Amino acid sequence: MGTSYEVQFISLEAAVSDAFIENEIEKLLEELDRGIFTTYSLDSELSHVNQLPLDLPVSVSKHLLSVLELSKEISELSGGAFDITVAPLVNLWGFGPEAHNIFSELPSELAINEAMLKVGLDNLLIDEGASQVTKTADITLDLSGVAKGYAVDQVANLLGDLNVESYFIEVGGEIKIKGLKPNNQEWIPAIEAPVYGSSQLYALLRSLGETISLAGSGDYRNYYERGGVRYSHEIDPRTGKPITHNLAAAFVIDESAARADALATAFMVLGPSEAQELILQEEIKALLIFRIENSQFQSFISDGFSRYLAK
Ligand code: ADP
Ligand code: MG
Repeated sequence: MGTSYEVQFISLEAAVSDAFIENEIEKLLEELDRGIFTTYSLDSELSHVNQLPLDLPVSVSKHLLSVLELSKEISELSGGAFDITVAPLVNLWGFGPEAHNIFSELPSELAINEAMLKVGLDNLLIDEGASQVTKTADITLDLSGVAKGYAVDQVANLLGDLNVESYFIEVGGEIKIKGLKPNNQEWIPAIEAPVYGSSQLYALLRSLGETISLAGSGDYRNYYERGGVRYSHEIDPRTGKPITHNLAAAFVIDESAARADALATAFMVLGPSEAQELILQEEIKALLIFRIENSQFQSFISDGFSRYLAK
C-alpha cells in the first residue's frame, strides 16, 4: 500500500506472547497488501482481476469482495465522486503506479476524454452470493482510497480474536482505537493541520469509551502546482480532473475504518458544499477543513463529530 503502520496494544492474556501477536499482525498485513490489494505488483489478487478478460466471472477472496462491495456503496452514496475505477485518470495526471506526466505538460482534453472512457464502476458486476466479480468493460481497480482503512479493521478483528481489549492501530494515517491504556488514560488521536512538511496540531480527539475509527484524506501531501493551481491526487471522475477547490482535508469517524476512509476520500472529491450536504443528509460524523489562505483554515464540524473533540 506504499505506506507504514503502527500498532500499540495492551495484552493481558498470558497464553499469547506479544511477539506472537506482532507476528500475526505482520502476516495479516502482508497478506492484505502483497497478496490482495497492491497494484504496485502484478501478482496481487487485485492485479489479477485488473488483467482479467471482459465478461468472465471470477471468484474473489472475502476480503476483496467486501472492499469492492463497500466501494460500490460509497460510490452510489456520493453520486460517483468516489470511484475505484479512476486509475487511468490517476495515472494520466501523474499520481499512480504508471504515472508519466508529473514533469511534463498537463494532459490534453483529448487524453482526459479517452481515459474517462475507461472509468465507471457500473462496469464491475458483483455477485455477492457466488463471491464472483465480472468486468464488463476495460476498467482498472485502484483501492488506494479505501484499503488502508480496511486493513485497520482487519487488524482490529485479529486483536479482538486474540482477546486484546485495548489498542491503537494506525495504517497510513487511518486509525482505530479501543479501550484504555494501563494507567486508565485514553488513547488520544491527533488531527494535523493540512500543511505539507512540518506537523502542526489541529485538533485532539477522545474516544468516549467507544471503539472508534478515524480516517482522513487531504490535498496537502500528494499534489503539484502548475500556474498557481494545486493539482491533488484526488481526481473527480465526473470531470476527469484533479480537485482544485479549497477543501484541504476531510476526516470521518465511523465504526468501520474502511467506510471512514472511503467517505473521507469521497468528501475530498465532492468538495465543500456537496460534502456538507451529504454529511448532513446521512448524519455522518465528519470534520471538513477549508483553506482560506496559505496556512489559515476554517472548519465545518458535524454534531456527531464534535462530541469526540477533546475540549
Ligand atoms: P490518502 O492517501 O491521503 O489517505 P485517500 O484515502 O483520499 O488519500 O486516497 C487517495 C487515493 O485514492 C489516490 O492516490 C488515488 O489512487 C485514489 N483516488 C483518487 N481519486 C479517487 C476517487 N475519485 N475515488 C476513489 N479513489 C480515488
Ligand atoms: Mg480514503
